[in-house]
Amino acid sequence: MKLYYDFHIHSCLSPCGSEDNTPNNIVNMALIKGLQAIALSDHNSGKNCPATMEAGRKNGLVVLPAMELTTSEDIHILCLFERYEDLEKLETYIQKTRLRVKNRPEIFGHQYIMNERDEVIGEEEDLLIVSSGVSVEEAAALVKGFGGIAVPAHIDKQSNGLVGILGAFDPSLGFGLIESTLDSGIPLPQITNSDAHYLWDISEAEHFLDAETCSVRGVFAALKKMCEEGNR
Ligand SMILES: [Zn+2]
Ligand SMILES: [Zn+2]
Repeated sequence: MKLYYDFHIHSCLSPCGSEDNTPNNIVNMALIKGLQAIALSDHNSGKNCPATMEAGRKNGLVVLPAMELTTSEDIHILCLFERYEDLEKLETYIQKTRLRVKNRPEIFGHQYIMNERDEVIGEEEDLLIVSSGVSVEEAAALVKGFGGIAVPAHIDKQSNGLVGILGAFDPSLGFGLIESTLDSGIPLPQITNSDAHYLWDISEAEHFLDAETCSVRGVFAALKKMCEEGNR
């Protein structure tokens, strides 16, 4: 079945994400836009995924747990998962490697953690957008080891995109899927997402994938299949 998606959306946990990007607002806006599947991908953290997944379950929207990992080279890698528990393990791992810099909300913005009723239940104190100690060479295998799929994010963008930083795409890095808004010319399956930091930037129903079922399992299996085809 054809499912319209947007697998790169930030919440109010990302310092650069709007405070209006609460779990329920994101789910409702995605439904208004006509999407069937999204992923919540905050910088280096998945802590708003449980609430957003719950809001999705209640309202009939598939929500994959995800995060946008910053590598040690400052390259952004979208990490998509089926189970939040697996994403949590990746987060625990990268937290140990991440530079610890206190967030300054007055400059970078708040980093709110919310429950499924959009109530603030915590605030992340360390700035989330800093580099982790994970290199781009190890990212694909590391994420796969935790059960996820690593996708170089906005590969067509100069800032924080893999090609912009490394100068070229190296197939030996092990990625099987890329994220781009343009045809990147890289011979790998591609997904196109919004990278929305504001509600109105969430994708319209423009990009779809073919999944067996409209469920977290069905959508993740479809992405995994694309990734495996890319790795062949
Ligand atoms: Zn990014
Ligand atoms: Zn992003």
